[in-house]
Amino acid sequence: MKIFISADMEGISGVATNQQLKTNSEYQRFRKLMTADVNAAIEGAFNGGATEVVVADGHGNMSNILIEDLDPRARLVSGSNRVMCQLEGLDDTFDGIMFVGHHGREGGSDVTVISHTLAGICINEMKINGKVVGETEMNTLVAGAFGVPSIFISGDDAYVREVKETLPDVEAAVTKRAVDRFAAELLHPEVARAEIRSKAEAAVKKIKTFKPMTFEGPVTFDIELKGPQQAKMTTTLPTVELTGPKNIRFTCGDIVTAYKHMWGCAIIAMTATNGVLGSVNA
Ligand SMILES: [Zn+2]
Repeated sequence: MKIFISADMEGISGVATNQQLKTNSEYQRFRKLMTADVNAAIEGAFNGGATEVVVADGHGNMSNILIEDLDPRARLVSGSNRVMCQLEGLDDTFDGIMFVGHHGREGGSDVTVISHTLAGICINEMKINGKVVGETEMNTLVAGAFGVPSIFISGDDAYVREVKETLPDVEAAVTKRAVDRFAAELLHPEVARAEIRSKAEAAVKKIKTFKPMTFEGPVTFDIELKGPQQAKMTTTLPTVELTGPKNIRFTCGDIVTAYKHMWGCAIIAMTATNGVLGSVNA
């Protein structure tokens, strides 16, 4: 039985502020904590009956997890040049997907710790076929196209409530109580990891009860960006329509193609934030 883990950092045990996730001395501590939470999920997955686990590091530069400290039974997708973004490595041979250390969406109704949608620098809101989505809901739809159900999530309490509106049966480990976007009431990491381990194990044991989320037909993304310079530059792609100063729309035939297209637009928008060639030695 193969399990895919998409790992993010904001919902990891111990994380309460953005500074902890940047490249400084604090960040080195939090890379260890991230790796430990992921290890708890891997252990739970194997205890529940998994025979193979692949982890995709999905935060920031996508190379946060310390491979030397990772459970040696798992393989790690690391590095950011990925066509499939947080789901690189996922295919139809997997039986379930877990989201470890994830977070609520930008502008969600509840305060969640370091809430954002995929790229805080450029995305205000993302809709798929008219429905506002966060990263977990979007990734769930993409995984569904491969026949892979979402079985487990971990993060703060508000994130868990948000995801359960869409996935009421997903197994969830709460790692902290969200107090503010940049404050949390933290569980001790050992306590949170015990919860991650047991809920991940429970999810794999009942994996047959989960159904992949699928839908037919074309997929339209409506994305509100943070700045007009970001939106405008995405129209270099002939598929993108400007629907407002900061709003773009595109339609693809299926969710996997649309996800890659969305990621392409996000890459352009991030690069366009301060001028596309401002930080490149072209
Ligand atoms: Zn992140």
